[in-house]
Amino acid sequence: MEIKFYGGVGTIGGNTFMVEDGDTKIFLDFGQSFSYGEQFFTGWLGARERFGLKDHFALDLMPKIPGLYSPEALENTECSYCEPQYQGVFISHVHYDHLAHLSYLDPGIPVYMGETTLRILDSWETTGISGFGDHDYRTFRTGDVIKVDDMEVTPVHVDHSTPAAYGYIVHTGSGTLVYTGDLRLHGTHSHLTRDFIEQAAGAKPDIMICEGTRVAPEENRKNFTEQGVYDHSRKLLDDTDKLAFTCFYGRDVERMKTFHRLAKDTGRKFVVSTKTAHLLRILTDDPGIEVPDPFTDENMLIYCRHMNRYNKWEREFIDLEHCVDANYINSHQGDLIMQMDFIHFAELIDIMPEPSSLFIHSQSEPFQEDDIEDEVKHNWMDRFGLELHQAHASGHCSREEIFQIIREISPKKVYPVHTEFPELFKQELGTMVEIPTLAW
Ligand SMILES: [Zn+2]
Repeated sequence: MEIKFYGGVGTIGGNTFMVEDGDTKIFLDFGQSFSYGEQFFTGWLGARERFGLKDHFALDLMPKIPGLYSPEALENTECSYCEPQYQGVFISHVHYDHLAHLSYLDPGIPVYMGETTLRILDSWETTGISGFGDHDYRTFRTGDVIKVDDMEVTPVHVDHSTPAAYGYIVHTGSGTLVYTGDLRLHGTHSHLTRDFIEQAAGAKPDIMICEGTRVAPEENRKNFTEQGVYDHSRKLLDDTDKLAFTCFYGRDVERMKTFHRLAKDTGRKFVVSTKTAHLLRILTDDPGIEVPDPFTDENMLIYCRHMNRYNKWEREFIDLEHCVDANYINSHQGDLIMQMDFIHFAELIDIMPEPSSLFIHSQSEPFQEDDIEDEVKHNWMDRFGLELHQAHASGHCSREEIFQIIREISPKKVYPVHTEFPELFKQELGTMVEIPTLAW
């Protein structure tokens, strides 16, 4: 068994690992790292997507691998197209840093992901500007075993900041590999991660590919448990009769449920964006997950921004009784918790919240001190006199938990990925750790 690391090395996200056993070759994840191309791109300056992989290749941002990319992706490059040489791509969860490069993948290569993972991806593609191409999607649920030639791939659910996240156990003729994906132990579904650890340990793996997002020299950002997010926000809400805003990541369904519960328990209604409403709506009939239905739930409302033209998917929302506008928010301030994404801050001009309204920031604090977006966020807070509070539960295990998980699974060899500090693994765990290097 051979593993090639095409991404996720010394950086957070961009996981792209090729596992090869004889003639069988599969990929684990196909993502783009958060720092991707940052030496060349910023703000509106980005790769010219109309030229497929041309700019990515020219700037040495992506590897030129024959038999992997689609004809369209290669059309404007010096690489010529050839038939697929890989048998599958296995996606761990529906986050950009784990699947974004699917848009360049040859549609002849099957893409495996959880059933619910695909539903969420569909909603994301429908309501956002990102499209990841048409693929031969093959979905699974926990308990399924997928055979690829002589390889056996077993997805096992884990808890992360999006539903339907998986780790993988891969049996090959020449050894067993386990891959964590992204996982945590302090969320509402930590038993899922426990299941993965138990099964991974039982597989007695030769190799473990392990995430280490929070494996860093020191951690100075606040981290709550999911219940901690509830408790902290509950206290804030109990102490005010003003409007409360919140923001969270687009696919963090658990956080949506936390704020829904907060609204219900404090006699408020939870007002969500049309995007959030779309996602929750398509999950209402998913047997694997329980969510409130934004179209009918008595504790929910949907905020419809005033637009000259609505997207097709948004049009069915506009006439719903559950849809409200800025005037409604303005005249019911103390009765609401409202989702307010950064990109929609200009809505504050229409809503005109009373000074000292709450803003519960329920996503990561900025990674750098000189974060421009954070500065702009603060300017809006000041302009409207909003009180900013932080309440977020990370999607990732702490450093100590990661080391504990590795000890429990006890592989012969560990490759740290999805971390800026792989050498800390080596310091802690010694010779079992091999720091991966990029394969190109
Ligand atoms: Zn990730």
